[in-house]
Amino acid sequence: MNRVHIKTYGCQMNERDSEAVASLLRARGYAMVEDEAEADVVLLNTCAVRDLAEQKAMGKAAHLNKRKRRNPRFLVGVLGCMAQNRGVDLLDRLPDLDLLVGTQKFHRVPDMLDNLLATQSGLGPRPKTLVDLDAEAGSQNEIRGHISPGDAPQVSAYISIMQGCNMHCTFCIVPKTRGEERSRPMDDIVREAEELVANGTREITLLGQIVTSYGRREFPMVDGKTPFVQLLERLHALPNLHRIRFTSPHPSGYKPDLVAAFRDLPKLGEYAHLPLQSGSDRILRAMNRPYTADSYRRLIDKLREAQPKMWFSTDIIVGFPGEADADFAATRDLFDDIGFEMAYLFKYSTRTGTPAAEMEDRIPEDIAEARHTELMQILEKHSLRRNEALVGTVEEVLPQEPARRPLGRLLGRTRGYRKVFFDAPERLLGELTQVRITKATVAALEGEVVVND
Ligand code: SAM
Repeated sequence: MNRVHIKTYGCQMNERDSEAVASLLRARGYAMVEDEAEADVVLLNTCAVRDLAEQKAMGKAAHLNKRKRRNPRFLVGVLGCMAQNRGVDLLDRLPDLDLLVGTQKFHRVPDMLDNLLATQSGLGPRPKTLVDLDAEAGSQNEIRGHISPGDAPQVSAYISIMQGCNMHCTFCIVPKTRGEERSRPMDDIVREAEELVANGTREITLLGQIVTSYGRREFPMVDGKTPFVQLLERLHALPNLHRIRFTSPHPSGYKPDLVAAFRDLPKLGEYAHLPLQSGSDRILRAMNRPYTADSYRRLIDKLREAQPKMWFSTDIIVGFPGEADADFAATRDLFDDIGFEMAYLFKYSTRTGTPAAEMEDRIPEDIAEARHTELMQILEKHSLRRNEALVGTVEEVLPQEPARRPLGRLLGRTRGYRKVFFDAPERLLGELTQVRITKATVAALEGEVVVND
């Protein structure tokens, strides 16, 4: 009764939370299994950012509950953002759940499972659902466990550096699900990075709901540098760490020190994510985004000045309440003009409890869909154009993992964060490798290792 499968929905922060839970469970003697059918316990780590994500997790939980009816010893838990968002009301829809755990309580999962299994070993009635959705001071410091020693090294690893969000965008549920911004001590993060690097990690991605806000309430500026840039500099000094990335930032977090970091810290590579959301100032105001299309455009220019080879990605929401044709046209024109090579394009999803949920002038689904498709086409055009321009060039690639198909190939990323597939032995995993690009599609590149004579 100790095989656990965790299924994760949503963002990298959720992936990281699941990994930390898995590491705690392993330390407690549980076995983590890839195949859900082999598991005695299935934990769903959920997302609440859009309705679709919640519906998927809800459908999955209902399906697993059917399995519970056939085997009452099988346990099902819902963790994370949907648990926090819906609270105990979720039990009206899913009364058979065994565990309901909020975003500040991931580290409590092993104790809760131990308790459930202990109660279950008696022959009494089914124990009540164990629920823990409270806030907990210091919970941001609990997301730190990685894979156990002896496992294959993770070439690329995540480190959660802060939790919560104070930005209060009117469309977003995250302040409710993740709470106020809380940052981890810088020394702890650097120590975690050192341990990962000692274990073979070569790329670290720093994670937070608004990662660029790291430490702004806890730690002072030093030499005009924000705590986030101070942290980047400390990590940059670690020998054998080749690359540092971060997600998800906010455009207003790109202060002059962070822009300069793209010039001064080569391990950052030439890639930045800047969630735009809309190119219309009217809609940006309604979204409570503290920048204009013009100031955003100037920020992109400054980053290109600091690092001319920069690649950019963004997040856009189409169909926000009140988004008139002219507003969408402003988004489309700015999106096309900047020429993003990557983007996460979303149709607005109403989130109960957010200010935008109360706004009038809803955009019909077919209009939102058409706007989404239009942006997708622009994105594909720019992505292909820029990828094709790399054919024939030699790129520095960090090979991260064996490709799933075909066997024998490795998957790596360029400094601009483009995926590259190439034939190479696994011993090159984690080694910076020169790769000549031979083929480009919208989504990825192919190449061959450059062999020096
Ligand atoms: N750091 C990011 C920022 O600057 O806003 C926040 C990351 S957020 C968790 C991920 C993305 O989900 C947002 O950038 C936004 O585009 C999208 N999103 C959030 N709420 C949404 C909603 N109600 N409907 C559609 N997309 C949404």
